[in-house]
This record gives sequence, C-alpha cells and structure tokens, in this order.
Amino acid sequence: MFTCKQVSKALHEEDYSQMSPLRRFFLRLHLRLCVVCGKYNKQVIESQDMCTCYKQHEAENEADRPKLDLSQKEALKELLADKIAK
Ligand SMILES: [Zn+2]
Repeated sequence: MFTCKQVSKALHEEDYSQMSPLRRFFLRLHLRLCVVCGKYNKQVIESQDMCTCYKQHEAENEADRPKLDLSQKEALKELLADKIAK
C-alpha cells in the first residue's frame, strides 16, 4: 500500500496513464480509501487526463481556433504592455 507522500510524489513525477496497471491499481486503491489526499490526487489525475486529451486533439481543433492577423497581434501586445506598465 502506498503512503500519501508516495502517491503525491508518483503523480508529480509520472503521468498516471503511463504507469503500469498494477501501479495504477494500488494508486487508485489508496485514493479511494484515503481521506487525507484522495480528493486532491484524484483531481491531479483528472487534470493529467485533460492535458493528455488536449494534446491528442490539439491538431484537430487548430482549424476552429480563432486567429488574429499580424496587426491585431501587435495591437494586443501594445495594449498588454500598456496595462502592465500602469
Ligand atoms: Zn493519501
């Protein structure tokens, strides 16, 4: 059985989806039983899943993403620089 520290360290250093099935099983078991870190580390796994999904579909969504032309980008940069300077 993992300790809370081991679970947090594992999720910090590794992607949950890349772990071995046995390691994922014991990690999930800990998260189900643990009232200390269970909720937080479940959210860490969910955020890793979201990032993985985003990376997988990034190219597909590129066409639908709004684009700025060069003059709009420059205007936005100036606006941000102006706001930051204040
Ligand atoms: Zn725990």
